[in-house]
Amino acid sequence: MGQDKRRPLLAANWKMHKTVSEMEEFLSSFLKMVSGIDDRDIFIAPSFVCLHDMVKLLKGTQVEPAAQNMFYKEEGAFTGEVSPKMLTSIGVSLVILGHSERRHIFHEDDELIGKKMESAISHGMRPVFCVGETLEEREKGLTSTVLKNQLSRGLQGIKESDTGRVIVAYEPVWAIGTGKTATLEQIQEAHALLRSEIGKLAGEDIAQKVRILYGGSVKPGNIKDIMGLDDVDGALVGGASLEPESFAQIVRFEEN
Ligand code: PEP
Repeated sequence: MGQDKRRPLLAANWKMHKTVSEMEEFLSSFLKMVSGIDDRDIFIAPSFVCLHDMVKLLKGTQVEPAAQNMFYKEEGAFTGEVSPKMLTSIGVSLVILGHSERRHIFHEDDELIGKKMESAISHGMRPVFCVGETLEEREKGLTSTVLKNQLSRGLQGIKESDTGRVIVAYEPVWAIGTGKTATLEQIQEAHALLRSEIGKLAGEDIAQKVRILYGGSVKPGNIKDIMGLDDVDGALVGGASLEPESFAQIVRFEEN
């Protein structure tokens, strides 16, 4: 790579798990386990119900709260949605967008995700932009086409100079929550492709700075090898982030 490795980022996506009291219990153990670790970024995306309390509990720690989703408008008649203005007003600037569960269960398409990306950037937020192919697409040899399309559509409303604020997450759909991790070769190949496409869209300097996370059945037992790959800068973790011990082991990946 010929450049310093980017700062590692270990991210928890709690999906629709944990009540407020379960979140408090998690943090009271987890924060002790990671105290003093300041050479990497850590964030946790809880449900919206937990988010405001989490913001307060994380004040003064190195762990950042994140949202799992948002709508692109600031306010209005959009029942059930949460806006960038609401998130930033409570101190949340990280937001996961385009997660495969949003794409596949809730039918969010590239156009909607692109609008959300543009809105996040224009509100000074840092989107964690998820891309990834389904098993069927991989088996048909369409992985690179799918990744290139998702990436370019998600970034199309964003100025080149703002692309550096985007965090990309490569999450092969077939590896999410299935216990099936992509092989190291598959991960590195997809990450290198994404970095090279970011280079074409926003320039090589930005491409070298953008962090690309891997997500899909990351566990304490596989994180060290995954983090050793040249173009992997972190992980987006679902199931294994729900227990403080297991997420703390992922955060301290070198020790596994
Ligand atoms: C995710 O939700 O982004 C994810 C990768 O889930 P899991 O780690 O459970 O596969």
